Amino acid sequence: MAEKNIFEEIKSFINDYGNYFTFTAALKEKGKNYKMPEVIADVNSGNPKSVDAPDVKKDNLNYLQDIVVNNCVKCRLSEKRKNIVFGEGSPDCRLMFIGEAPGADEDDTGRPFVGRAGQLLTKIIESINLKREDVYIANVIKCRPPGNRTPSDDEIECCSGYLREQVRIIKPRIICTLGKVPMEYIVGKDKGIISRVRGNEYKYEGIPVIPTYHPSYLLRNPSAKREVWEDMKKIRDSYL
Ligand code: SF4
Repeated sequence: MAEKNIFEEIKSFINDYGNYFTFTAALKEKGKNYKMPEVIADVNSGNPKSVDAPDVKKDNLNYLQDIVVNNCVKCRLSEKRKNIVFGEGSPDCRLMFIGEAPGADEDDTGRPFVGRAGQLLTKIIESINLKREDVYIANVIKCRPPGNRTPSDDEIECCSGYLREQVRIIKPRIICTLGKVPMEYIVGKDKGIISRVRGNEYKYEGIPVIPTYHPSYLLRNPSAKREVWEDMKKIRDSYL
């Protein structure tokens, strides 16, 4: 029953963002060979297979990235971006990190968390005996806000549907939000400031969420690493 709901959701998502066949025809014209994600094919045939198979998750993330997100001009952040930073990692991960938005290094490369803060995040991941490629890393906002300013509420509202769809496809066991913006979006602004909220458990799309500090904050405030380590231990011991 739960699977049926998600097929319906994906179907309406496709309807919201455009016709699948129009997009694939356009891609073929450009010489890009695109494989129809199995879940989409199965929705069309009325004979759905498991959306939890790792190859189906991978196809659906590729679909979301290539067909829906990669040409997005839904908000003003499209004007100055160099690259859309969709997210990267294992589509079948247990742990998903959610940050705020790309910075300059991420905008240059199209990859999330590759600057100094990203290197620290890699160390944090390794501290719980995982590799970076074992987890999935994405941001609430996919294009860099000019000057690394905080994204506005309307930009978050415009872009956050993509993140929600990533979470629905990946279905991690646990989500860890990094910093204030993703904490407020996922957990709610009414829950309090991040120093009170971090380390507690919440839910998003039915998935447990534990907020912690952003690695950039740790670069400025190394003493907060101890609290992040506590949060990581909790994630490791309870969900991995
Ligand atoms: S920030 Fe999100 S909604 Fe805005 S243009 Fe980029 S991908 Fe589209």
